[in-house]
Amino acid sequence: MFLLGHSCLSYLFSKPTGRKVNVNLPAYLALLAGVLPDFDIYFKPLIQHHTYTHSLIILLPICAVLIIRFKGLGLAFSAGILSHLVADSIVGTIPPLYPLSDFQLGISLGLPSPADTALEVGALALVLVIAYLNGDYKLVAESHREGVYLAIPLVSIATLTLLFAGDNNVPLADFAFSRKALTLITLGHAVLAGILGLAVVQGVRAVMIDKWRPGQAPTGQSNEQQSHGSPLPSNTSP
Ligand SMILES: [Zn+2]
Repeated sequence: MFLLGHSCLSYLFSKPTGRKVNVNLPAYLALLAGVLPDFDIYFKPLIQHHTYTHSLIILLPICAVLIIRFKGLGLAFSAGILSHLVADSIVGTIPPLYPLSDFQLGISLGLPSPADTALEVGALALVLVIAYLNGDYKLVAESHREGVYLAIPLVSIATLTLLFAGDNNVPLADFAFSRKALTLITLGHAVLAGILGLAVVQGVRAVMIDKWRPGQAPTGQSNEQQSHGSPLPSNTSP
């Protein structure tokens, strides 16, 4: 699956999981968790893509440590990480027992494929709905310092996509618009990147406002948050 689907499915897995245990995982972590297994692309050729970081026997202990250390937040974040393996095993396969065994698990619906496109674009649409309901949309609509952190998933998604294309000698522009299904996927990436970029701009604005307000020390909150006296965001649904 492409990074659009991974970040969106991560959000869809981690936010409701957090909500079940009464924690609000920040949006940037919810979007980032499911991208992490593909960070192996940064370490190529040291680590072969789709091996260690896509193995259950590697990831489950890491998730266990996260849950023990960070409790509910660790659980929600882990749900995001593991969503990556679920997604990859739907459109392709994963090696759940690597490096002990090369056994591959998955139903391989294909990548790219209409099923993959539906999953990725559908996930993005659902993220938009849920972000509206749970208040995360305020990171785009208003200036909040937390928006700055959305640069992390944004830069990860952009650089991993470029690196992956480079490593595989894919002419990105040709590839991106080569099929109908892929065009939708490309548009989805552009929409997500645009939204994250806007949130980063809003975050930078909030930081600037705090910094330049005369005679007042930075507080960690934007104007908006101070005047309403409540931190972002109020969770009201999934
Ligand atoms: Zn992957």
